[in-house]
Amino acid sequence: MDLLDVLNLPIHEVSDLLRRKELSSVDLTRTTLERIDHVEDRTKAFVTVTKELAMAQATAADARIDSGNASILTGIPMQLKDNLCTKGTVTTCASHMLENFVPSYSATIAKKLYVEGAVLVGKGNLDEFAMGSSAENSAFFPTRNPWDLERVPGGSSGGPAAAVAAGESFYAVGSDTGGSIRQPAALCGVVGLKPTYGLVSRYGLIAFASSLDQVGPLTKDVTDSAIVLNAVAGHDPRDSTSVSYKKPDFTEKLRDGVRGLQVGVPKEYLVEGMEAGVENAFRQAVDVLEDLGAEIQEVSLPHSSFAMAVYYIIAPSEASANLARYDGVKYGYSAKNANSMWDALEKTRQDGFGPEVKRRIMLGTYALSAGYYDAYYLKAQKVRTIIRRELEEVFECVDVLVSPTSPTVAFKLGEKMDDPVQMYLSDILTQPANIAGIPAISVPCGLVSGLPVGLQIMAAPLREETLFQTAFAYEQATEWHTMHPELD
Ligand code: GLN
Repeated sequence: MDLLDVLNLPIHEVSDLLRRKELSSVDLTRTTLERIDHVEDRTKAFVTVTKELAMAQATAADARIDSGNASILTGIPMQLKDNLCTKGTVTTCASHMLENFVPSYSATIAKKLYVEGAVLVGKGNLDEFAMGSSAENSAFFPTRNPWDLERVPGGSSGGPAAAVAAGESFYAVGSDTGGSIRQPAALCGVVGLKPTYGLVSRYGLIAFASSLDQVGPLTKDVTDSAIVLNAVAGHDPRDSTSVSYKKPDFTEKLRDGVRGLQVGVPKEYLVEGMEAGVENAFRQAVDVLEDLGAEIQEVSLPHSSFAMAVYYIIAPSEASANLARYDGVKYGYSAKNANSMWDALEKTRQDGFGPEVKRRIMLGTYALSAGYYDAYYLKAQKVRTIIRRELEEVFECVDVLVSPTSPTVAFKLGEKMDDPVQMYLSDILTQPANIAGIPAISVPCGLVSGLPVGLQIMAAPLREETLFQTAFAYEQATEWHTMHPELD
């Protein structure tokens, strides 16, 4: 097999080649780095490429494969979103504030992948501090969609999604606060999983909104998603929100099929402003599930229309508290030429943060301030509880819920930059899962004028196996996951 064709293979296939010694990790990693060199000036999916580290890890992986104790991820190149701390490698959050920040520790998820023998090829671009839906809020440069370089890859995990779609990485790890794994996965035609809140440790994830943030994989197919989750899920004493739970082998039930499975279609999710092509692709996906034996029922989630308002109170409020730590004293950017402590603090935050981050800090500070707290933050928390209960109730009647992942396909660069509300609407279908803490996955379900569409599947907390089972059955019945953008 041509080494370049190998770049399109999923983890579960390339891993066989490695363990059968038909290919070494050093060769695989070198080919991946060449691919990055070849396409990166067009996709811009990486903030940092870690060539030397990758080659060293690949050499170690080959030794481990030789010694016979390799795992399925040993020797396989991957990318981490640049809001996950990597010891000794700059971690920027795509912000001037952390442009030169080199963490002294690695995120738990990075460590767990290193234990498996993973090879880090670099850090993925994102919207600054993960705030955005297009990767255009990166303080450095926007990432471009490999399917159409004039369009956004989605966000905030735009770099991870573009890297996987463009064959620059076999998989990536992103973070999802309101849709940041699933929406870019949908727009780039890859699989993106937001696990149950607390299933995967967030220790070392630079915090955006702590009651919503979750990390998870972006992969080429559903099997790979389950494989990566197997490696990274589990309790971590360093993350007080991580759940103690005996994790299953997430690949075990992949082939169980959907016969008799109750699939709910929330009627409120077919929102105004949804593109006709997206809605069509979604309806066809539902038909595929029905043909496979699933039982489809329309359900109603009347409070879902409040999810976006709730999200845009809670996420900025928590962000304003989390981002208070960037004061120019402890770490990160520090303004020079200040004539007092207050002046230094002001200048540091003035120059260090970009416009969207400042907008969120102002929104959040306002919502939390005395006199407004009850009207905004507290009320949002109450509505959050209603939304969560509504979802809990619906999961007594259905096994999974399905919807499109995003109301539109990838939009043009610059198209929504002057209209934050339009940009915020991109996540209208993904935010409820964060608000309720439930798992959700996006799988490719169509192409509209050559641009990918995603099918979102949601389940009750800790029902990842049901998600995978549904997603896998759908994937195997369709061809979408085998399609790749033409970049050459
Ligand atoms: N696009 C949403 C926002 O801007 C979600 C971002 C995310 O999930 N990190 O907040």
